Amino acid sequence: MEVNRYLVALTLVVLAQGASLGQDEKLRYDNYSVYKVKYETPEQRNLLTKFAEDRENFRLWSEAKNELHLMISPGALSKLESEIQKINVTAEVFIGNVQSLIDLEEEANLKLSSDGSFGWKKYNTLAEIYEWLDGILVAYPVITESFILGQSYEGRTIRGIKISYKSNNPGVLIESNIHAREWITSATATWLINEFLTSQDEGVRNLAENHDWYIVPVLNVDGFVYTHEKDRMWRKTRQPSDISSCIGVDPNRNYDSYWMEYNGASSNPCSETYGGPNALSEPEVKAMSDYISSNKDKFNVMLAFHSYSQFLLSPYGHTSEEFPPNYDDMMAASKAFADAVESLPYGTVYEYGSVAEMLYAATGATNDWAYEQGIEMSFTIEFRDTGRYGFILPPVQIIPNAEEALVGIAALLDKCEELGYLELKTTQ
Ligand SMILES: [Zn+2]
Repeated sequence: MEVNRYLVALTLVVLAQGASLGQDEKLRYDNYSVYKVKYETPEQRNLLTKFAEDRENFRLWSEAKNELHLMISPGALSKLESEIQKINVTAEVFIGNVQSLIDLEEEANLKLSSDGSFGWKKYNTLAEIYEWLDGILVAYPVITESFILGQSYEGRTIRGIKISYKSNNPGVLIESNIHAREWITSATATWLINEFLTSQDEGVRNLAENHDWYIVPVLNVDGFVYTHEKDRMWRKTRQPSDISSCIGVDPNRNYDSYWMEYNGASSNPCSETYGGPNALSEPEVKAMSDYISSNKDKFNVMLAFHSYSQFLLSPYGHTSEEFPPNYDDMMAASKAFADAVESLPYGTVYEYGSVAEMLYAATGATNDWAYEQGIEMSFTIEFRDTGRYGFILPPVQIIPNAEEALVGIAALLDKCEELGYLELKTTQ
């Protein structure tokens, strides 16, 4: 009897804490739902993002113009309902139980990991990706070259691979998985590496061999490992804060480009878009930032891989009232990307525009920093989907998404060449 009462009390404590976890357990999201909330005014958005800073119960998943995607704990549904009425916005549920999607994904991963094979029918861990990279570097010693950006906060190595078939190629830099939970990004980046090395398709061969590729498959290595081992929905870095018990910084708000200006990031360490105590406070961001600025003459095009929303986004992030001098050219390249993707049998539609125009003010992002370094074609790509699965895109969609990225990037680069952006900046 005593024991039973103790168990009941324990269960209640666990329930009250919501998605809590023990030392070796993964955080669970049983009956957590995701809502699409539509708003009209900046004031409504402020109120929504403010109340979503209650991390126990709410997590911001995504934002599009006049739309927020919020994950909500089962215990906070009534709070959401009353907030919706108070703020006078509309909401609709589009994921009923986040944990069931995580379970399905984990099942697929476990089934295929048991034989230790790397592939694109499942999501690979950092260790699997690095082991695969090592194999690639050994198998293609002339064409590939390993490079190291630096060390993460927790001491992991941030690695990249250069693929170059000949000298005097224009350079394309790809940053991937800066946001930890966006697993489709590193899956796509590794698939592209594999295609560039092994495809027999003439179009892919031209794309692979006429550009130098600099690809960082996982930038936020600590966060990525954390999503595999503890919390599938983690977004930020893993560096603790001096002023809060909330951990991590949004690395894509931490670059030294209009950092924390224009309301482009949050100053609250518990927010998903916390800009950090200072620009470049995160070693991963500092490493990438240094890599970009010290090699900027090698890069003609910069692509930052994200998910989800199916957007191709260009500078600026800080304002929608001003556009970069070559904005029309960026839009022409974006249109080429979107048209090529839509022409595939999947018919996937991408929208495009500047970050501030398409979403909201966001500062300190990689593509703005890269643009300021003189990489005049710098984009953020938000991959599949538009919210049906969100970050937990089923593994069966990895290859279709990667195929879309491939044809989209090929068309984008063709347009860049036509517009004169692939001229060599220096003799290499
Ligand atoms: Zn992202």
